[in-house]
Amino acid sequence: MLRTLRYGEADLIAHLYTRHAGRRGVIAKGARKPKSRLGARLEPFLALRLQVVEGRGDLATVRGVEVEAAHEGLRSSWRAQQVGAAALDLVSRITVEHEANEGLYHLLRNFLDLLDSTAARTGAEGAGDERRGGALLMAFELKLLHVVGIAPQLGACVRCGDTVGLVAFSPADGGVVCSGCRTGGDSGMDAAVHAAAVELMRTPLAELSTRAEEDLPNQRELRTIDAGIVAPTCLEHAGVRPRRGR
Ligand SMILES: [Zn+2]
Repeated sequence: MLRTLRYGEADLIAHLYTRHAGRRGVIAKGARKPKSRLGARLEPFLALRLQVVEGRGDLATVRGVEVEAAHEGLRSSWRAQQVGAAALDLVSRITVEHEANEGLYHLLRNFLDLLDSTAARTGAEGAGDERRGGALLMAFELKLLHVVGIAPQLGACVRCGDTVGLVAFSPADGGVVCSGCRTGGDSGMDAAVHAAAVELMRTPLAELSTRAEEDLPNQRELRTIDAGIVAPTCLEHAGVRPRRGR
């Protein structure tokens, strides 16, 4: 479940990322009436099983809602909500309506499940959460770029294929650049940032969610991956600027 919009007197339009139909909208008639059973279950971050009736328009009508995962840990942690909201927002804006992508569905579901269990384990506060939350978000976004087909090339220079001396990133060319090929338009990237980005791209989210805090990329590395690799790639190849709640 990505987000809801109020509609008319008492209806609710919900945007979902579905397993078999990608991102789509549904309408829940009367969901905002006090006694509605649908309304209480149509909340962002929930994993739902919906019964719908397809209509003439784009929006199917919801007949029943079953909660598969309520993700209460996530929804009761302010920090986890910030991280989760940034992920849902990017999924909403980077995907095309009605375009199925089961890999993306599983990635998102796995991410929300792990964010929920991490939040439940570590509590709403604590100095560690911010670094882990940031690492999970960056890893999710790099993997998201991969499943939507615009992953940055991190292993070798996009211009000559060299695998050593990688010192910059080119959003336009979609990957890292070596010192020999670097031009003025490429943004600099030090070895620690490059190594952290490679690590986040290839490490399973589950492993990052339980790894010792000090073995995760630090805030500077995370911010540089965000501002230097992830955000420019989204903008250049999908026309989307990721939102940040931090
Ligand atoms: Zn090169």
